[in-house]
This record gives sequence, C-alpha cells and structure tokens, in this order.
Amino acid sequence: MRTAEIRKRWLDYFAGHDHTVVPSASLVSPDPSTLFTIAGMVPFIPYMTGEQTAPWARATSVQKCVRTLDIDDVGKTTRHGTFFQMNGNFSFGDYFKEGAIGHAWDLITRSQDDGGYGFDPDRIWVTVYHDDDEAIELWKKVAGLPNERIQRLGMDTNYWSTGARGPAGPCSEIFFDRGPAYGPDGGPAVDLAGDRFLEIWNLVFMQYERGDGGDKSGFPILGELTKKNIDTGMGLERVAFLLQGKDNLYEIDEVFPVIAAVEALSGKTYGAALDDDVRMRVVADHVRSALMIISDGVRPSNEGRGYVLRRLLRRSVRAMRLLGVDDPALPALFPVSRDAMAASYPEVATDFERISSIAYAEEDAFRRTLASGTTILDTAVSRAKSSAGTGGVPVLGGDQAFALHDTYGFPIDLTLEMAAEQGVQVDEKAFRSLMTEQRTRARADALAKRSGGVDTAAYESLSADLSAPVEFLGYTESTASV
Ligand code: ATP
Ligand code: MG
Ligand code: MG
Ligand code: MG
Repeated sequence: MRTAEIRKRWLDYFAGHDHTVVPSASLVSPDPSTLFTIAGMVPFIPYMTGEQTAPWARATSVQKCVRTLDIDDVGKTTRHGTFFQMNGNFSFGDYFKEGAIGHAWDLITRSQDDGGYGFDPDRIWVTVYHDDDEAIELWKKVAGLPNERIQRLGMDTNYWSTGARGPAGPCSEIFFDRGPAYGPDGGPAVDLAGDRFLEIWNLVFMQYERGDGGDKSGFPILGELTKKNIDTGMGLERVAFLLQGKDNLYEIDEVFPVIAAVEALSGKTYGAALDDDVRMRVVADHVRSALMIISDGVRPSNEGRGYVLRRLLRRSVRAMRLLGVDDPALPALFPVSRDAMAASYPEVATDFERISSIAYAEEDAFRRTLASGTTILDTAVSRAKSSAGTGGVPVLGGDQAFALHDTYGFPIDLTLEMAAEQGVQVDEKAFRSLMTEQRTRARADALAKRSGGVDTAAYESLSADLSAPVEFLGYTESTASV
C-alpha cells in the first residue's frame, strides 16, 4: 500500500467518524518553544491548554514533522526520520479513552478491503501507564487483548505533560510485533526499543491538570480536567514500511527512490555493506527533509532553522563523498525526492525551481568550503594521530579547530564529524574558549570604535553573527510531545 494511500485512508476513516480534516501546518513551528513542528498536536496546543476554544469537537490531520533530536539515529535504527508525517486524531472535550482506543483498534485491524490497515490483531502489543486501570480494562474489553500483551510502564515513557502547569495525563502506545526474525520473544521483559516491537501509535489521554514544580519522576496533580482531550500520533512512515513489507522506513516508496539514485551515482549496491547502507539512508532521509523544509520557506543560514537545513544539506553532500561521489550530487537527487513526494505535497513540484536552486547553491558553497579546508584538516588529523603514538587517543588541538573555523569556514560540528570518522577527538573545550576570546575581542573593538565617535558597532556585530557558525540549536528543541 503506497504511503499516499495510507495517508488517505487515515483521513477518510476519521472524516467518516465525524472528525474535521485540518490541513498540515507548516514545518516552521506555530509554537515558539520549538524550531520545527515536532508532533501533530503542536498546531492544537492553544485548544489543549484551554487558551482558545477549539472550533471543532473532533479533528484529524496528517502533520509534517521534523525532529532534529533524532538526527543521530537516522539510518541506524529502522524507524527514525528527521522528516516524517504524523497522523493524528484529536478530541477536544468530546470522546475520551474508550473512543480513542476503539478508533485505533478498529482502524489498524479492519481489513484492507474495508478501508483499514489490516494488521494481524494477534501481533499487536500495547503499553499503558502502570496505574491506568481504566485503559487496561478498555484494551481488554475493546480489543480482547490478553494481559501479557499489555505492558505497564512508568512516567518516563507513558505520561505526557507540557512540563508546567496545564493539561497532563497517561499515554498508551501501540506496538507491532515483527516476529522472531527481528529479536527474542515477548514476555514481561519485552524490549520495546529494539527492532522486533515497533512503536506505531501513541495515544495521549489528557485527563488531569498538573501544577508547577516537580520533575519527570512526579509532579503535583491539581485535579481532573473538566474538558478532557485526546491527542494521538501515528507514524505514517512506520505503518508504510510494515504494510510495504520493508525492513525500515528508508525503504518505503517516498524515500527509497533516492537510495536507488545514490546506487546509480556511486556504483555501490544497497545491502552490500552496513556503513554504506547507513550513508545511503542518511542521504535519502536528509534530501527529503531538506526538500520539505525549503518548501516551507526556510533558507540555509548560520542559525536556527536555517542552520538545521544547512546541516542536513551538508551531511548529505558529505555522505555522498564518503560513498565515492565527488561531483555535485543534489541535482541528481532532488528531482527524485520531488517525484516521490509530489503525490501528497504537489507544492514541491510546482515550486521546485525555487526549492532546488536554494539547495544546489548551498551544495556549491559547501564544496568550496570543503575544497579549501579538507587538506588542512587531514594534515591536522594525521599529525594528531602520529603524536598520539600507539595506544594513545589522538586529539586535534582546539587551536587547529579554531583555525579551520576562522580561516576556512569549517563549523565545529563538521570538524568534529570529520575527525571522528578517522578516530580522532577534538579538544572542544579549548576551541570554545578561543571562540569566546574572539567574541570578547570583537566586542571590545566595537566599543572602542563607538567611543571614537562613529557608532558602527551594530553593523559589525550583525555581520559577525551572520558569518560565525553557531551551535546546532535544533538539539535544544523540546521533546514534550505526543
Ligand atoms: P520512538 O520511541 O520510536 O523514538 P517516540 O515515542 O519518540 O518514538 P512519539 O513522540 O510518541 O514517538 O510520536 C508519535 C509517533 O510518531 C510514534 O509512535 C511514531 O510512530 C512516530 N515517530 C516519532 N518519531 C519519529 C521519527 N523520528 N521518524 C518517524 N516516525 C516517528
Ligand atoms: Mg523518539
Ligand atoms: Mg517511544
Ligand atoms: Mg511514543
């Protein structure tokens, strides 16, 4: 079943159950606490907190999401994309646990001939918050699940809140058992983070009002909400790879064509070597994310969203180099990703001229950076190796990392990544203190100039900000989400 079809079935199913279909919000998060939209519920936060009244009692969407927090997992786990789509159904003071569990069970087990996804009910496992007896009873009543396939877990995985005063409540997650080929049997110690049991859907029951204070292990509960909400999120790509009989989400119809194009460009075969497979998956994931992010109006820059985008594009280019492709790669890959995504997002085709020219210009600029700095980095790396001697851990000096940054425009994360590939660490602390020194000097210079009568400081610090690569802010985004 194609991903676009799974998406359509979702919307049709919930529209058929009185949910209003709400189009995806932009990837540029409507909620200021995160750079990107990280979950389907983000556009609905004001309705969940009661700050605004929802115009509908029930809603459904397929939300475009970006989670940079998952970037290091991409290509290595079977299930994490930086870009993905979260199918959601939402109740604003309307149905609660029984409705949420009932709809979820119906849609995943309903036959494909009858508009459902047709999962084998005997291979569905769920988790619940350990004292949510109501949910446990409902899973037995609605789905007939036996005790052993209902796992009771704690607050760290199965409780949602915004982290401050506001709505909170237990979660229940739905897993699909991929079978013994992917890991050991279930039982009480079932490994839910492994490959065998795949999390496909999270149901959040916003039941309580929590108070301020406390932490992940516990916080004050002020009472039951008068208007209880349902927020759910299903990973579209995860369902797609199961229904398409694939091993992981990089092999679905919306992503794999890019891997096939990388095979053609590099002359390497996907499946032949793990390192190369990971690189191919990274390229396919990042190209798709970049396509979608640029489509939503972000441009590469040295901070915030623009820096995340820059990093995704640069990582794609570097992975292609490691696969042996030195020529510009994006012009061969972006059209492939466009064709794979246009069924659900026609704007990536109609706006392709603009989107692709931004990406290609970034690749060209990065190739120039690499051309000027790579030899310097390689020399520093081999020097670090020989001075470490046998058995020692080679460390590249902070001054060298600083020179690469200052003279050749190598951001520190690039130096870190490229050094790590050769088994070399970087003295990041020394690098940071050199950066601080430089900033202090620049500030002092600016002050001196200002006192000289002409106030050019504002312009100088502005241009310094634009040229100095900054921290990868994406990592600081909140994960409080579905
Ligand atoms: P995981 O534990 O696998 O990282 P999660 O618990 O962080 O997932 P949720 O925050 O519960 O995920 O998001 C709801 C659903 O969105 C998940 O059940 C999953 O199907 C999907 N999902 C989450 N993160 C990703 C991702 N990086 N790529 C693809 N799908 C995702
Ligand atoms: Mg996660
Ligand atoms: Mg999880
Ligand atoms: Mg989850």
